[in-house]
Amino acid sequence: DAAIRIDGLTKTYAGGKQALKGIDLTVPAGSVFGLLGPNGAGKSTLINILAGLVIKTSGKVDIWGWDQDRNPRQSRASIGVMPQELNLDPFFTPRDALEVQAGLYGVPKAQRRSDEILEMVGLTDKAGAYARTLSGGMRRRLLLAKALVHSPQVLVLDEPTAGVDIELRQMLWQNVRRLNKDRGMTIILTTHYLEEAEEMCDEIAIINHGQKVAQDSTVNLLGRL
Ligand code: ADP
Ligand code: ADP
Repeated sequence: DAAIRIDGLTKTYAGGKQALKGIDLTVPAGSVFGLLGPNGAGKSTLINILAGLVIKTSGKVDIWGWDQDRNPRQSRASIGVMPQELNLDPFFTPRDALEVQAGLYGVPKAQRRSDEILEMVGLTDKAGAYARTLSGGMRRRLLLAKALVHSPQVLVLDEPTAGVDIELRQMLWQNVRRLNKDRGMTIILTTHYLEEAEEMCDEIAIINHGQKVAQDSTVNLLGRL
């Protein structure tokens, strides 16, 4: 079954830049799926469309079987996104940020698991610290935590390890593996590190100039490169 199904997806930004030129993409449920491609290929645009942050120009996007246009609430509830930008409200603590996020997604109080999530990403010690005092690494941990508060079926990570130190990279990889293996969460990540894709992903799609140029199992694809 498909976690994500994309048909004929295009995006032209105001100003005329064609960032996506007709992408067809199916992400198998339960997989760790890599989106690879050089800078400017359209990876972030694609992910921001999945996240509902960028409005597509045309095409069809299904998330966990929910059409993004016809069932926007259900499709949004099915996905969590860890963005690339480290934007956080400077005067929110991690605990506040998770509460607000849970509220935005309508997670009932009794089902909120802020402490467990903070523990998982290694932020327990910083649970009460203002975001403005957190390092880049701590902010990334918090962004991952925020993406998980509504227990999405699909987790998307945009360049999670770009410019990240070894310790944080390992924490991220370990979390990704655990969420995938223990909870069956489908994971989509973008990266331009080939070795990271090889290590982490079951299947890979390569995007270039707004088009998909290849998609296959990691073994087949990287065997061929
Ligand atoms: P839009 O409202 O068209 O989606 P934004 O408000 O994000 O775009 O940006 C306005 C303009 O700034 C764009 O039309 C573009 O020219 C420029 N711009 C913003 N972000 C980028 C980017 N990442 N790469 C190139 N140009 C950008
Ligand atoms: P990637 O994530 O693969 O580096 P992006 O999706 O960020 O690629 O960008 C794809 C293309 O769209 C690039 O040419 C980029 O400059 C352009 N772009 C991205 N965001 C905007 C925007 N808001 N306005 C105009 N152009 C943009």
